[in-house]
Amino acid sequence: MKTDIRAFTFDKLNSELSSLGLPAFRTKQIFKWLHQYGCSSFDEMTNISKALRAQLEERFYIGSCYVEDKYVSSIDGTVKYLFRLHDGEYIESVIMKYKYGYTICVSSQVGCKMGCTFCASAIAGFKRNLTAGEIEVQLIAAQKDLNIKISHIVLMGIGEPLDNFDNLIDFLNNVNNPDGLNISMRNITVSTCGIVPNIYRLIDYNLQLTLTVSLHASNDNIRSRTMPVSRKYSIDELLSACKVYAEKTGRRVSFEYTLIKGVNDSAENAKELSLRLKGMLCHVNLIPVNDVKESGNISCSREEILKFQNILKRNGINATIRRTLGADINASCGQLRRLKKRGEIDENCC
Ligand code: SAH
Repeated sequence: MKTDIRAFTFDKLNSELSSLGLPAFRTKQIFKWLHQYGCSSFDEMTNISKALRAQLEERFYIGSCYVEDKYVSSIDGTVKYLFRLHDGEYIESVIMKYKYGYTICVSSQVGCKMGCTFCASAIAGFKRNLTAGEIEVQLIAAQKDLNIKISHIVLMGIGEPLDNFDNLIDFLNNVNNPDGLNISMRNITVSTCGIVPNIYRLIDYNLQLTLTVSLHASNDNIRSRTMPVSRKYSIDELLSACKVYAEKTGRRVSFEYTLIKGVNDSAENAKELSLRLKGMLCHVNLIPVNDVKESGNISCSREEILKFQNILKRNGINATIRRTLGADINASCGQLRRLKKRGEIDENCC
């Protein structure tokens, strides 16, 4: 069985190559081909001999992804890809243009085990973890296709990044490497539904990235109705971990709060949330729930969201309302893979 050579960190690549008898300078050369130039075959590595390329080919493959479908929003230019992996599985990525540059939202797993009721990723089922190389190659493929340089990464696509912890860490290491894509940790956001022990593991790495926590409720009772993970880790345990994260890293924790009509949107919910977050270095992102047909969830109106935001603000909690990008292309993740599995295709595909 071949392994994905793009999934190796620099150190791991070095030990693999030295066990083949290669000198250390080869590691840097090959690492650059894989991560900085984003090659997808060993034949592209023109400064290494054909014999060595054949030797590498025998042992490794280069984790790559192929554009299966591509959607471009006519409203704001947001681009969404359905990528096919080497084993025929599908993942999604979204590229958004902001004033400060391009941001990519990447998938971390094929499907998701977490089972959040409002999320399309859960409906299509879990298949496998992505390798660190497969998380990174989404950036490489999008950059090549659009001829752009991506400066920011959010791990908010399909999957739960903290459920693929080791590969996440290797991916972060590699994209941050100056001989790779050289993306600053400060430009990376990891979003989690709240796997508490792995938040503590992340704290131990003391990385300067932004932690975003999908909270979506002000108490355990409501949270357990939409997010099964909360039956394992209570909201208090989760918020304690977030406090430690903020204290240890000095970075503000972000909370995602998707407003669902009649579920988590009352004035009492806003007050309860304010009390829970009081004194924490944090920020709340209010999101109108995206309609996923099977879920039956109803979105709140703009006025209702503003009302919720005002209560948080009056109670000293920093809160903004998420701008919706790519509204015409099903840009929230999980929706395309789900359609593909059903043999359907989105009408906006180009
Ligand atoms: N598993 C991670 C990252 C993937 S989901 C997490 O849970 O954070 C990225 C974000 O989109 C999460 O905040 C998730 O709760 C939210 N989300 C999923 N489905 C949604 C929907 N239908 N409407 C609005 N937000 C949704």
